[in-house]
Amino acid sequence: RLEIRNLLRRFEGRAVVDDVSLSIQPGHVTCLLGPSGCGKSTTLRMIAGVDMQDAGEIHVDGQLICDTVFRVPPERRQIGLMFQDFALFPHLSVGENVAFGLKGAKSEKRARAVELLDRVGLGHFIDEYPHQLSGGEQQRVALARALAPRPKIMLMDEPFSGLDNRLRDGIRDETLALLKEEGASVLLVTHEPEEAMRMADEIALMRDGHIVQRGAPYNIYNAPADKAAVAFFSDIN
Ligand code: ATP
Ligand code: MG
Repeated sequence: RLEIRNLLRRFEGRAVVDDVSLSIQPGHVTCLLGPSGCGKSTTLRMIAGVDMQDAGEIHVDGQLICDTVFRVPPERRQIGLMFQDFALFPHLSVGENVAFGLKGAKSEKRARAVELLDRVGLGHFIDEYPHQLSGGEQQRVALARALAPRPKIMLMDEPFSGLDNRLRDGIRDETLALLKEEGASVLLVTHEPEEAMRMADEIALMRDGHIVQRGAPYNIYNAPADKAAVAFFSDIN
């Protein structure tokens, strides 16, 4: 369970994340949804530990991960990351990419890579190199890589935005199924209402650095908190 409390981040005197509190239930997909520039990626970066808040706390399973004084380094947070530019390592094979963050014997690492690559239908690519794969295939490998160390929490920042429409729906569904199987708690950032409706158990709607509404997707869709939220959702066909 991930819990963030009263997170604040200022850039040049402006609060781009302003008193954001949010908790993510185990096994759930929570979507942080909002227009461009509202502070979604900044929030995610602080949770990942690659940026530091000016105020507020982050807890995982009741343990303090980070406040303004104390800070667990990113690699020890048991948090998986998948960002928009999910670049695979070009000089490593697909299997080596997936096994990259793992510890233990080589055979065990390979077994975990085989397991995940089979799961995303790419087992036969294990000894190929990333440039031999399509964009959608690379995206699946990146997902396998992020899940390989069994993170308790997965942070995903617009992970599907580089894919063409034809591929996107299939990969969203496949990703969701795998995340559920692996039991990760997911915080997924998106600016597309449609994506949040499709993937989320819960939506946190963000605007101008604030969470303005949260709840189950259809509750938010059917009863947006204010006019701006109505306008934002009206883009869905
Ligand atoms: P998008 O949907 O376009 O990715 P976002 O919600 O992820 O938007 P953020 O990247 O969190 O938005 O940025 C929020 C605001 O903070 C923006 O106005 C951005 O210009 C500003 N910002 C982000 N990082 C920095 C930085 N390192 N220095 C100065 N300003 C920044
Ligand atoms: Mg962003």
